Formats: sequence, C-alpha cells, structure tokens
Amino acid sequence: MSVNPKYFLEQRIILVDSLRRKGIKDERVLTAIEKVPREIFVPADQKDRAYIDNALPIECGQSISQPYTVAYMTELLDTFDGCKVLEIGTGSGYQCAILSVLGCEVFSIERIEFLHNKVKKIFANLNIKARLFLGDGSKGLPEFAPFDRIIVTAAAPDIPSSLINQLKIGGKLVIPVGSRNEQIMTLVIRSSTNKYEIIRKDSFRFVPLIGEEGWSNE
Ligand code: SAM
Repeated sequence: MSVNPKYFLEQRIILVDSLRRKGIKDERVLTAIEKVPREIFVPADQKDRAYIDNALPIECGQSISQPYTVAYMTELLDTFDGCKVLEIGTGSGYQCAILSVLGCEVFSIERIEFLHNKVKKIFANLNIKARLFLGDGSKGLPEFAPFDRIIVTAAAPDIPSSLINQLKIGGKLVIPVGSRNEQIMTLVIRSSTNKYEIIRKDSFRFVPLIGEEGWSNE
C-alpha cells in the first residue's frame, strides 16, 4: 500500500481532535500524538487502520495500545522535559516514541526479543533516542534507578514492589492493576521513602504483564 504522507498527517489531526473531545486536555501530549507517525509502529497489514482509535494486533500475539489509552496514561504520568522514565512493555515502541518526543529520557524494557529488535530498527530509522532493554520488566531496571516516572503498559495482578522502590521521592507510577480480563488504571505517588498515595482511575483491558512480579506464563 503506498499512501501519501499528507494523508497520514491529516488522519493524525483528526485523531487528536477526537482525543480532545474524549477528554484529553494536556496539549503537550496531544502535540506529541500529532507528531508521531503511528502507521510506522503497526504491522504492514494494519496501516490503513493506524488512525482508528483502537488497539491493534502486533506480532507475537501482543498489541499496540489504543491512542486514547496512550494519551490517558501519558497525561496521568505528567512528565516534564528531561524526565527520567522507565516503560515496562516496549511492544510496538509507539508509547516509548511519544515519551521521547515529549523530551523524556526513556528506558524501555520488553520481554519478547522479536519486538525488542523490531523497535530498535524503527527507532534507528526515525532517529528516536531511547534506551531499549530485553528482559523481565516486572522487576524494573534496578541498575538505572531511581526514576522520575514509571509506566507499565501491561496488566499487573498487583503493584510490583520492585517498581515502587525504583521511584524517586515525588515520583509517579502509572500501572493497570486487576484481573487478566479487566484492570483499573492506578496512579502511585511516592511521597516519602515509605509513604505512597494510591489513586484509582478508570477501567481498561491490557495484555498480561508476564514475569516474576506479574502473571505466570501459562
Ligand atoms: N507500550 C506498547 C506500545 O506502545 O505498543 C504496548 C505494549 S503491549 C499492550 C504490552 C507489552 O508488554 C507486550 O509487548 C508484552 O510482550 C510486554 N510485556 C509483558 N510482560 C512483560 C514484562 N514482564 N517485561 C517486559 N515486557 C513485558
């Protein structure tokens, strides 16, 4: 399929308008979504669906999150320029690209080697700077901690204690927590060494976080 790049830009503008109508208010987040070409991050046979506000299947039985979900989580994460962010679940690389465009220093970890390698190539082509890791992100990345922000883009049964411990004081963690079928988007704010505020938001559905502090791989 050969599509005029102007077509995709127009689609992005329409998508951003629809996200604004759905309640996304942070103009920095909306601008980042307008800048990142989502069609590059979806499989070839899904490109014509890249700007429908839906999650889409990617390789290895995983998914690229719905643009609304990406915008919602990014708004909740409340990043700032130079913010040091850990993302668990690189997947397609789309969320990671949005954080990078927002000026964050991003560390992103994925457990599936095929997806990790694919994103490395996409980022090299688009000149996106992020540090990509292969492994079980449910334990975080202790060697690079502490982080200003942590975002988990897979469904966790509980809030992994390793992740809380890798947050700076004042840091924020955004994570969908619940059953395998439905999760509550949860914001954790580390107010002091041993104090956390936990705020539960709306319900979502993610693929499972598989790992030592996630679900077992059945
Ligand atoms: N952020 C992604 C994007 O923008 O496309 C969404 C990814 S998808 C909803 C969740 C990803 O988390 C999958 O690629 C899955 O393999 C990965 N994942 C699940 N458990 C993981 C773990 N313990 N460590 C790292 N990645 C994990």
